[in-house]
Formats: sequence, C-alpha cells, structure tokens
Amino acid sequence: MKFVSEKPKTTISVIKADIGSLAGHHVVHPDTMAAAAKVLAEAKSKGIIVDYYVTHAGDDLELIMTHKKGVDSPEVHETAWNAFKEAAKVAKELGLYAAGQDLLAEAFSGNVRGLGPSVAEMEFVERPSEPIVVFMADKTEPGAFNLPLFRVFADPFNTAGLVIDPKLHDGFKFEIYDVMAGKYVVMNAPEELYDILALIGTPGRFVIRRVYRKSDNEIAAVVSVERLNLIAGRYVGKDDPVAVVRAQSGFPAVGEILEAFAFPHLVAGWMRGSHFGPLMPVSQRHARCTRFDGPPRVVALGFQIKNARLIGPSDLFDDPAFDETRRLAQMIAEYMRRHGPFMPHRLGPEEMEYTTLPEVLQKLQNRFVEAKLYEVKGPKVKTELLE
Ligand SMILES: [Mg+2]
Repeated sequence: MKFVSEKPKTTISVIKADIGSLAGHHVVHPDTMAAAAKVLAEAKSKGIIVDYYVTHAGDDLELIMTHKKGVDSPEVHETAWNAFKEAAKVAKELGLYAAGQDLLAEAFSGNVRGLGPSVAEMEFVERPSEPIVVFMADKTEPGAFNLPLFRVFADPFNTAGLVIDPKLHDGFKFEIYDVMAGKYVVMNAPEELYDILALIGTPGRFVIRRVYRKSDNEIAAVVSVERLNLIAGRYVGKDDPVAVVRAQSGFPAVGEILEAFAFPHLVAGWMRGSHFGPLMPVSQRHARCTRFDGPPRVVALGFQIKNARLIGPSDLFDDPAFDETRRLAQMIAEYMRRHGPFMPHRLGPEEMEYTTLPEVLQKLQNRFVEAKLYEVKGPKVKTELLE
C-alpha cells in the first residue's frame, strides 16, 4: 500500500469591518478590539483557529487569524462574524459613531462575504521560513492596491528580483476581478503587461484579487475585493481593503513589496468616500484619519508564520525612510484639497451615484429648460445623475 503524504497547509485569514469608531470615522475604540479579541481567544481555545492578532487601521477593526481549515471556512468566518457582532455591541453601548455600520445582515449564513466585512485569505504549505506582509488601508477602496501590486509583481524598476532572481524571472499571474460584472480573468506578466494595465487602470471596477507565481502556481498575494456600496446598493462607507503578500525565497523581498508604496498614488475614498487623495503609508500609531477624514492611509504589518502561529508583528512603515513619501502625500493632499467640491478631487459621476449626491441633484431635475442648441452625435452621454 502506498501512502501519499500531503503536506499540512496553513491558512491566513484577514477579515475586517467598520463596526463603529471614536470621534466620527476616526479610530477604533480599544474596548471594541478587546471584545473581538475575547471571541478569537475562545475560538483559539476550541481549536477553530491556531493564532490571531487583533488590530485596527483607522476606523476599521482588523482580525488577522491563522488556522488549518482552508479559505472560506464557515467556522472561521462565523468566528469573525461573532467577533464583529460582540464589538458592535460594545460600540453601541459606548455610543460610538456608525456603530454596526458594516454588518449589513442580521444573521450569519455560512460566509461573511456579501454580509459587509471584507476578506483576504490564502492557504499554502509553509516554507521553512514564511514571511508575510499584511496591508490594511483606511478611507479607500480595493482597487487602491492595483498600482502597488502591479509594481511589486510586474515592474522590474520596482522589483529587482524579477530581473536577477531565477525564481522570479518567469513572472507572475494576475487574477483580475470585475466588481460590477462578477467575473474574473487570469493574465500573465510579463507577456500581457499592456492588457493587464488596460484593465487595472480602472481601479473602481477591475481589482487585482490574487497573484500567483507562474512557474508553479503558488499563491503570492490576495486582496479583499468586496465593494460595500455595490452590495448594499447605497452609500454605507468606503470598502477599506486588506491584502496579504508572501515575501522572500521565490517571492519579492519585503523591501521590494514596501518599495511600491513609496509613491503616494491617488486613490478614491477620503471624505465621505467621494474624493481622490494620496495613499499615505503610515505606522500603526498614525493609522488615524483626521484631515478631511484622511488622507487615505495604509499600514503594513510584517509577520513570520510558523506551524500556523503568527510571529510578530513588525510595524513596517514605522520608518523614517518613508518620511519623504509622507511629506509628498501631505503636499498632494494640500493641492487636491484646494479643488474643494470640484473634480478631479471629488469623484466622477459614476462613483457618485452611490453617495447622497443624487438626492441633491433630484431637486434640480425640474428646473432644467429644454434647449437643443445643436445635435449631439458623439458617444452616448451619461445623464443618470439627472434622470
Ligand atoms: Mg474605514
């Protein structure tokens, strides 16, 4: 009789929700984190999860969990759901702002996807040393990771290993999810670089969901793609995303992964989820959005995973090497703010449809007077906001 020994796999699940925050949409209250941590501690003692770390990025409560149950495990998702419910209970008791905001459903039904929380999970056989980086952003949307992840896994000017490391030289595959149509496509880098960019340059619609190493299909990165407004059909806050990226030994180095965030690119989000602003990499203690509820920011925590235990974290953007990035972000924030309610600081009409702007425009609808000064033959004009 022949035994095929399957190597045990470890899963990391990062699940987050905004369940209410202190002083507006500012920062998670420590008592809500404690309530969530209690639920995870119980789940750990029952063997549902192996390890956990509870933290926050601005007003988002973040649950980082490791276990052996694979992605989309109902038990792990239910644990996260219960943790958010308990935290929301405390948020309500304390009268925190928007208590329970992201919990769109009354009851759990097998998976937190579609119920409000965002999820990034991956399962793999641990390497002897398994470094990972968990990214958590506030006041922005999942597509905010498109540009940096493209740089990490496809741009040799960012990632030296793509050129000089034989293990990275074959490139990576990008799974790109269309959040409007609910479809995805897998594309190869470097062969299809331009086609990949043609899609992910529209980050409000096409989101990098997973990245795989091409030579052996090994998972390299995963991003939460939940768009809260699309799920709820109305504005309920921004879909502040999380991502997990594996590093070193066959993947980009930690420094190559962080390097992609040294440019504070413009992302959608910020005040009322309705403005473009720079994504500012910050330390955990600076993950609290103040100026105009922003500017949008991202935290990076580095861990080692050993036998499904979380070793760490290290607060990776807590480094003066990112001071100039932050200074540039401040300057861009100032420049963008001067536009006030004008595009391109304010988002375009398609994105504004999910906000409260249509209610304002509705009032003006009857005041428009017909005046055909010329025939419009060009591309179909989008007028939904005024219909
Ligand atoms: Mg948030």
